[in-house]
Amino acid sequence: MGKQVARQLGLPIPTGSAYAGKTIILATKHGKERAISNAFRRHLGAEIEVADIDTDKLGTFSGEIEREGNPIEVALRKAKLGIRSTGLGRGLANEGSFGPHPAVPFSNVDLEVLAFVDEELEIEVIERIQSLKTNLAYCTPRAGEDIKAFLESMHFGSHALVVRPNDGDKYSTLFKGIQKVSDLENAIRKCAQLSPDGKAHVETDMRAHLNPTRMKVIRKLGYQMAKRLSTRCSECFAPGWGIVDVERGLPCAWCGAPTPLVWKEIYRCAACEHEEREKRADGKESAEAKNCPECNP
Ligand SMILES: [Zn+2]
Ligand SMILES: [Zn+2]
Repeated sequence: MGKQVARQLGLPIPTGSAYAGKTIILATKHGKERAISNAFRRHLGAEIEVADIDTDKLGTFSGEIEREGNPIEVALRKAKLGIRSTGLGRGLANEGSFGPHPAVPFSNVDLEVLAFVDEELEIEVIERIQSLKTNLAYCTPRAGEDIKAFLESMHFGSHALVVRPNDGDKYSTLFKGIQKVSDLENAIRKCAQLSPDGKAHVETDMRAHLNPTRMKVIRKLGYQMAKRLSTRCSECFAPGWGIVDVERGLPCAWCGAPTPLVWKEIYRCAACEHEEREKRADGKESAEAKNCPECNP
């Protein structure tokens, strides 16, 4: 039902949170409710309940179970699993991926996706965030080798490590969630012994409950999603109105040619076809000539 129809029928136009007093199922076994519950309570008046399902079955960071599909697909699948396991119609799930930043040299990036599914309203909402704040790193020491500098840079202790053999049958032995020096030494010794090259593969444990840096990024994303779900479409009043895409081609200030920079932000309803193109949030209306393929080829 659109705005016009509602007015003609004299029906009240819904305002405020569509989820006040409602429960949303979060599929996680890594304590992500700690990062998300507050935002949903404050901005939506909704309660987060954890679904007791093994999300690791859909793939792990340490590589012994491969993920199928892109992060958005995996997050949606997890959210729906949460819904299935409880029978409540609203689910939420997060999926992270990590790797070298495509544009910033020598920097890693944490890409986080949060998927929300409401089966009653038949909507799916995706929020994303990318952060250069990640401790993602690895090293391949031999038994007894000094890796103090590595441990310091990845904040060992508050942040955990995963250890496996560097070569050969790499996932035959896997030590996860290591936070103590004695456990680490023991794991490196065992894995180095099993590896044909005599080395252990030591990498950061990216699971949220053992990685406070990642948990912080998820917290930010939780607020982003809560804000999105508290915004209604001006046509059909469904929750989840927000930016879904951008249009590039910001005109050059000198010659007016389109540049690769973002020109418009595309807002779309999660339920109906309603869409709006808005100017950039930072108010920038033209690009500098250095970004122009004509002026600065
Ligand atoms: Zn130009
Ligand atoms: Zn709509």
